[in-house]
Amino acid sequence: MKKEYKQLAPDYRLLLGPGPVEVSPRVLNAMSKPLYGHLDHKFLDIANETMELLRYAFQTENRMTLPMSGTGSAGMETVMVNLLEPGDSAIVCVSGVFGQRLRDMAGRCGAKVISVEAPWGEIIDPEKVREAFKNNSNIKLVAIVHAETSTGVKQPLEEISRIAKENDALLVVDAVTSLGGTDLKIDEWGIDACYSGTQKALSCPPGLSPVTFGKKAIEALNNRKTKVNSWYLDLSMIQNYWGQERTYHHTAPINMIYGLREALLMVYEEGLEERFKRHQLNSDAFVAGVEAMGLKMVVKNKEHRLPTLNAVSIPEGVEDAAVRKYLLEKYGIEIGGGLGDFKGKAWRVGLMGESSSRNNVILLLGALGDAFM
Ligand code: PLP
Repeated sequence: MKKEYKQLAPDYRLLLGPGPVEVSPRVLNAMSKPLYGHLDHKFLDIANETMELLRYAFQTENRMTLPMSGTGSAGMETVMVNLLEPGDSAIVCVSGVFGQRLRDMAGRCGAKVISVEAPWGEIIDPEKVREAFKNNSNIKLVAIVHAETSTGVKQPLEEISRIAKENDALLVVDAVTSLGGTDLKIDEWGIDACYSGTQKALSCPPGLSPVTFGKKAIEALNNRKTKVNSWYLDLSMIQNYWGQERTYHHTAPINMIYGLREALLMVYEEGLEERFKRHQLNSDAFVAGVEAMGLKMVVKNKEHRLPTLNAVSIPEGVEDAAVRKYLLEKYGIEIGGGLGDFKGKAWRVGLMGESSSRNNVILLLGALGDAFM
């Protein structure tokens, strides 16, 4: 007997976790359009517009601004494998799971890694980065997470950027949970290389990782002594598809790019300033609501809280998994549990992109109250 399968029909979910988040029907509709060939001039126009809109979102003039095929970790790996080679030294800032992942990748590239750490829930102290430069020579880059999704911390970048410049090192930034949800100024803040993901504040399904490389980062790439240790992520080849030459490297994920273009167009139509205001307003409302219930935020310093990812401390005696299961089964709402050191200790509420709305905040606050009060 041939096994019977039903047509795909996902249950209702409201995605208010760390990502993926809600996606507009406009984006899903764009993704369902017929395919062009990836070298068709009509598709190349769409690819060019996607790069233009990405420059808008990243607030940069960098020519090399493009979506890598793969999720946010592919962007992270792209930056690390293209900029680091065996024997290089890198300072990696670590105060959560994604800083740890960056450090792991830097080590896998054969670099000597100097960790600068902060307790989870706090920012990296720029003075510690300064000290790391004093105690080590020939540092090629400093890597840091702008929006640490495992803790809900927003890391200020300008002082660390100044320190990197003073020491002639590149600044690499993980903006997976910040791009499109909170201010990120690539050019003004002097960020040399940056990557993000599509499934967070850009409100697109997971599958692409926007990256941007400035002049100094491209110089470092061109001055490598060894080949990039990944064929698939080698930007020196990939830029020939996204640049003037249009030579085949790997097949572009056509419909993902349709989706990203539409999601970026929605960012452009709303305008960055308005979009950041909306994210901040909904996050403030959510925080006020949970604090009124007697709950506490993980990040104590309000200035350092992310509007996109709101980490709430789980009160003593409340069982993490039971509450999340209740929210999912009774309301169809997904929120995230804690990662790494925060497993069982924090809920992670993503109010990003389409998920960041007044109605979602009110619904989640009501559902949370019902779940454990
Ligand atoms: N960096 C940060 C800050 C993230 O939050 C994530 C994913 O949550 C990643 C990197 C990795 O992205 P992905 O899971 O899409 O590979």
